[in-house]
Amino acid sequence: MSSSSIRRISRRADDVAVSATMAITAKASELKAQGRPVIGYGAGEPDFPTPGYIVDAALAAARDPRYHHYTAAGGLAVLKEAVAAKTLRDSGLDVDPSQVVITNGGKHAVYATCQALIDPGDEVLLPAPYWVTYPETVKLAGGVPVEIPTDETTNFQVSVDQLEAARTDRTKMLIFVSPSNPTGAVYSEASIAAIGAWAAQHGIWVMTDEIYEHLVYGDTKFRSMPAVAPEIADRTVIVNGVAKTYAMTGWRVGWLIGAPEVARAGMRLQSHMTSNVNNIAQLAALAAVSGPLDAVEEMRAAFDRRRRKMFEILSGIDGVICREPQGAFYAFPSLQGLLGRPLAGRVATTTLDLAALLLEEIEIAIVPGEAFGAPGYARFSFAMGDDDMVEGLTRLATLVAAG
Ligand code: PMP
Repeated sequence: MSSSSIRRISRRADDVAVSATMAITAKASELKAQGRPVIGYGAGEPDFPTPGYIVDAALAAARDPRYHHYTAAGGLAVLKEAVAAKTLRDSGLDVDPSQVVITNGGKHAVYATCQALIDPGDEVLLPAPYWVTYPETVKLAGGVPVEIPTDETTNFQVSVDQLEAARTDRTKMLIFVSPSNPTGAVYSEASIAAIGAWAAQHGIWVMTDEIYEHLVYGDTKFRSMPAVAPEIADRTVIVNGVAKTYAMTGWRVGWLIGAPEVARAGMRLQSHMTSNVNNIAQLAALAAVSGPLDAVEEMRAAFDRRRRKMFEILSGIDGVICREPQGAFYAFPSLQGLLGRPLAGRVATTTLDLAALLLEEIEIAIVPGEAFGAPGYARFSFAMGDDDMVEGLTRLATLVAAG
């Protein structure tokens, strides 16, 4: 053993939390490998293949020697222009292509934004339940995530009063996501405008994650914060990507849009971290964002059908409180009424335990709320086949009814 006091693994990497979902996912895969009929509600991605015209654009790009070499670290000019045009089309927001940085997925845009804006000790307001990547990326930049709890009584939406109560003179940024992963909640235009105005008043930056923009249901409308609160536009960074809208999670193309100096900072960082995003994938993304939205509408209609069915079944289960998801492809019910009571002769006291119980007893895999800073809840994805979805939920309803 070395006597050196130098650590093997950096403090930074050591401190990255292991996802609370990993144990249950590993157990689910193990059971599936044994041939068990496990039904998984953990998917964070569309179950459809990428539309053919997008794949064709990638095939053509792969055959074109222009794309066999390094390109600009911040993204292909044609794609940045198409992203600016798409942002005007979908959000009514006029941005210059020079404000766009093409990243390795939306996740990398979140990372680049935190690296570009956060200094050690800066506080970042993080409404909970939150997507698990946010607090870790804030911490990797030396920032301090300040969680603001919300629950189903406000449909998991944070209020300006809550934000104001959490604000200090170290508050640098708010992380905002609508439609939300994991709750499926979508903020109204009035709430978005109020939050944007509050942030502008206090000089707080907003990272607004718009990756689920096209997945909204019923009368719900997606609105982009800098479009409805222009006073915050200069301090807003939009995070977006092709993953969820076009069933392209594996292609790894996203982007950030920010003030010119933010885009330049993101580009500088990226020039050392990864260089350009894979050109073939960028050309596929170009076909996606500049093409029609018909395939998206077909997928959205399927998600909507499953959403309504999932909401109906979950709402009928005693002890489950479910708000109707308005966006994304997740339901986020409270399962507090199932804790502390016998189910298949066992008693779970936390949703983490309950997830293990459900996997073992009825072979369904759900993501416990602990993974999102919200114990007592669970995330159920409806990005899955209709029959499996109904079968697994029926198993849950039957188990609860039997006690
Ligand atoms: N933001 C949110 C809220 C997400 O749920 C995801 C994917 N789980 C992402 C960003 C990142 O997507 P990707 O990196 O695949 O583009």
